[in-house]
Order: sequence, then C-alpha cells, then structure tokens
Amino acid sequence: MKPEQRILLCLAHMSGREREYIDEAFADNWVVPLGPNVDGFEKDLKNFITAGHPELDHLEVAALSAGTAAIHLALVLLGVGPGDEVICQSFTFAASANPVLYQGARPVFVDSEASTWNMSPSLLRRAIDERIAATGRKPKAIVIVHLYGMPAMIDELLAVAKEYDIPVVEDAAEALGSCYKGRECSTFGRFGILSFNGNKMITTSGGGALVCPDAETRRRAVFYATQAREDRPYYHHLVAGFNYRLSNISAGIGRGQMTILDDHLAHHRALAAIYREVFASVKWVEFHDNPSTDSDANFWLSTILIDPANPGGATPMSVMQALADLNVETRLLWKPMHMQPLYADAPAVTDGTSESLFERGLCLPSGPWVTPDQARMIATKIIDLCSAS
Ligand SMILES: *Cc1c(COP(=O)(O)O)cnc(C)c1O
Repeated sequence: MKPEQRILLCLAHMSGREREYIDEAFADNWVVPLGPNVDGFEKDLKNFITAGHPELDHLEVAALSAGTAAIHLALVLLGVGPGDEVICQSFTFAASANPVLYQGARPVFVDSEASTWNMSPSLLRRAIDERIAATGRKPKAIVIVHLYGMPAMIDELLAVAKEYDIPVVEDAAEALGSCYKGRECSTFGRFGILSFNGNKMITTSGGGALVCPDAETRRRAVFYATQAREDRPYYHHLVAGFNYRLSNISAGIGRGQMTILDDHLAHHRALAAIYREVFASVKWVEFHDNPSTDSDANFWLSTILIDPANPGGATPMSVMQALADLNVETRLLWKPMHMQPLYADAPAVTDGTSESLFERGLCLPSGPWVTPDQARMIATKIIDLCSAS
C-alpha cells in the first residue's frame, strides 16, 4: 500500500522491529496462540498502563484475538447471562454493545454529555433508577467508552457505579495512551479493554487485550479464552469456552508496535494541536478538545463539530464528499446505538446529545502517515467550505 496516495484517517504504521519478533517466532516454531511474544506483549502492555503507578501493580493483562472478545470475556467473568441487563454508552461503535447480545442479555443505552461526548453521569443514574423500577433488579454491568480517545467523566461515573455497587467495564479500545488525572485509561474499571485492530493507536493486524484486576481473574479470562479446558489428563469441560487468545505471530507485531507507541501518541497529539490552532480562528468549526486539564486525550482521531449555520452551508456529509474528491478520507461520527435498527427495542435513556453530535460531527485524518502540512491543508479546506463564497 502506498500511504501517500490517499490521506487516510489512521493507517497502520510499522516500527521495523515487528519482523524481528515474527522471525523469532518462526525460528522457534512458536506459530500458535501462545508463546514468548504473547507473554512479552502482555508484559509490555502492563508496564505501559501502570508506569509511574506502583499502586496499579495488581493489574494483569490477557492478550486476546480482538477488543470485542475482551468485552465479551469481561461480561462472561461478571456473570452476565440471559435475563440480565447491561448499561452501555449509546454513542459508540457497535462492538461495545454486541457482546451483551452474545450473552443473551439486554443492553440499556445511556446518552452522552457534551463535554467529553461520553456517558452522562446524571443519565446513568436515571437509567439505573428506571431499570430497577421497571424490572426490580439492578443492571449487571456498566460499559463506559472513551470515544475517539477522549477520557469519559471517570470520577463521576465511578461514583454512581459505586453507589449502586455495579461493576464498570471500561472500553478503552480507542484510548490507549489517554490519561485521566495522570492515570492511563483502561485502569479505572473492574475490567479494561484495549484494541489493536488495523486502524487503532497500535495494531497487531487484529487483536485486543483484557485488563484484569488481579492474577486470579486473568487466569479465569485465559481459561475462558482457551476453550475452558479443565485441568485433567483428558479434555474435560464444565462450561463453554471460547477461542479468543492472541496468536504468537500477531503478538510479535504488537511487541514491535510497543516500541513506537510513544511516537504514535506524540504524532496524534501534534496533529490535534494543528487542527486546534487552525480551527480556533473560525466560529463555525469546533475542535473536540480536552474539556479540562484532568483529561489528556490521545486524539486517536481528531474530531470536529460543524455549526449548521455556517455561511457556506457545509454539512459533515458535504465536507466528507468534497474532501473525498481531494483523496482525503474523513468519516461521520459513530451513529448512536439507540438509533440503530439492531437495537430499536432496547431501552434507552437519552436527551438528544449524541443525536446532535452525530448530525454535526466529522472525524479527520489523524494517523502516523498524515503530515502536519496535510492536516493544515485539510483544516483550511474545511474552513473554505464553511465560508460564504
Ligand atoms: C475498535 C473498537 C472495539 C472493538 O475492537 P476490535 O479489536 O475491533 O474487536 C470496541 N469498542 C470500540 C469503541 C472500538 O472503537
């Protein structure tokens, strides 16, 4: 692939070290879903998310085949089953919610607040109260998301969850390297989820990880991820497991990627700084920025809101098309789950926030191959499109 031909949102970018780890795996014939690269990658991830925080040393990481698999295993380990309800942020990618269906449970969607675009603490409280009134039971878990790498209002959300004693699953698939009050996203919930799909902050071509509260929970996660085989001399099963472990080849890519994660983060944040600066000069385009110094987003994708009253009559759709003509990829924001036909019957506590964001928002090229000049060109073009001709 020639990255310079088209400016993409977030194209994978290799350090060059990936091949060494893969070659080692071939040399030692570790071409299986376990091995030294899996162990090494898990260690690298743990070191990264706990760095500078010895009090987080109890966290343990399980490398898995996908972020979606990590969410699924978190729900399995929390005992989510048929008849249960799980609260989920509505404004997200479908993979945050679909594992609730895999478990035969029912998602209850909660809208976002406008500052972080993530779950509203007050609507979360309302949703829990409403579901207890309707069903006589508490929701079994709460899935919060750090969308586009912007940390959610973690303290407020955790306070509500704690008050009702409901465990939190923290979908940090887009938030590797994002910090809240100096601590890495994925370390706040009972479980944290990371994704290494092709276009995320780092890639293993496909993969994910489950951040577990302790070694014993991680052991249970790996047990379920490897077909739930009991410790007997023959294959013996008490429960249904899954085939969710990461391959030792993919983990080799992950180890190589960990050597340039800091560079990737710096690059995403540098592009965000350019978009922030250029859009600061116009009132029709709002750059989605850290709402306070508590948050340090990774800007996995830089995103903007376009004021529908702009004199150029530009809409996210028209901007997306105009930029596509210039060989620039942009994307509308995630369409909220409560607006999806798949989830038409799911209870939802909404106030119009995510619907309004979806109507006005756009994701901009933000990855390692995008140059500062390209970002400036893209931002200038968007301002042109929003200005009267
Ligand atoms: C990518 C993503 C996932 C799923 O991760 P995969 O590794 O693609 O399965 C889950 N949640 C969010 C918010 C994502 O962006």
